[in-house]
Amino acid sequence: MRIANLNGRATMIVEDGAIDLANATNGRFGPSLPELYERWDEFVDAAPDVAGPSEPFSSSALGPPSPAPRQIVAIGLNYARHAEETGATPPSIPAVFTKFPSSLSGPFDDIVLSGSMVDWEVELVVVIGRTADYVAAKDAWDAVAGFTVGQDISNRKVQYDAGAQFSLGKSYRTFAPTGPWLVTLDEFEDPNDLGLRCSIDGEVVQDDSTSDMVFDVPHLIEELSKVVSLSPGDLIFTGTPAGVGMARNPQRFLAAGETLTTEIEGIGTMVNKVVAPAR
Ligand code: ZN
Repeated sequence: MRIANLNGRATMIVEDGAIDLANATNGRFGPSLPELYERWDEFVDAAPDVAGPSEPFSSSALGPPSPAPRQIVAIGLNYARHAEETGATPPSIPAVFTKFPSSLSGPFDDIVLSGSMVDWEVELVVVIGRTADYVAAKDAWDAVAGFTVGQDISNRKVQYDAGAQFSLGKSYRTFAPTGPWLVTLDEFEDPNDLGLRCSIDGEVVQDDSTSDMVFDVPHLIEELSKVVSLSPGDLIFTGTPAGVGMARNPQRFLAAGETLTTEIEGIGTMVNKVVAPAR
C-alpha cells in the first residue's frame, strides 16, 4: 500500500491515480496525515476495504508523507564506506542527531541553498506507525508504518564550524525532502535490502544498498527506543552511503540550477531542483 500527502490530504495511491481517504471512508480516516498515523493499526485493518474513484494527480501536489512528526531522528556514519570516506570509524552505537521538523519539504519541492557547501545524502526514511518504547530488534518491524525516500541535505560549513553541529547544519528550511509516498513493508521482498541512489543532472553520485547499513532498521529502533519514545508519524533518517560531495576530491557541492534525483528501489523517486536563496 502507498500512502501519500496530496495537497495536504491523506491519499491512497493506486495504479491509475489517487484515492482521497476522507472522501472514500466518509471521514473515518483522513484528511489529516498525523491522525492517520495515530490510528495506523485501525487503518491498516480497514485499508483493504477502501475503494473509491481514483483521480489523476500532479506530482507537484505531493508533500511529505508524514508532514508533522514530533521528532525526526537521523543517523550518521551508518554505512561503512561512507564512514571511511569521511575519515571516521564506524561507531559501536548509532551516531544520532536530529533534523528539526521545520526542515521537511515535499518530494518535488525546491532545495534552497544556504551558502556554497550544501551537500546531498540519499537515505531510506522509516515512518513510525506505533509507539515504540524499549522495543527489541526482533519486534521492531511492528513499530514501522512504512518507508519513504529522503534527502539529508547538509550545510557542511555549519555542520563542522562549531565542532560537529550536525543538527543545525542539516535543518535549514527545505533540507529534508521526503516522499514521494510511504510504502508499507508488505510490499518489499526483503526490507533490509533496497537499492538506493542519487544523481545530479543525471550523473550518479551515490549508488548502494541498504543491506550495507552498519545498524539495520530493527537494530536502530532497538537502540533508539532505549532512550527515546518513538511516536506514530516520527521519522528516522537511516544514514547515507558513500559518495557525498564533501568526501570527493575535489570536493563538490550543490549549485543553483542543478536537479537532484533521489530514488529507492520499491519506493519511488524524488526530483528536487536546487535554487539560490531569495534572501
Ligand atoms: Zn545523513
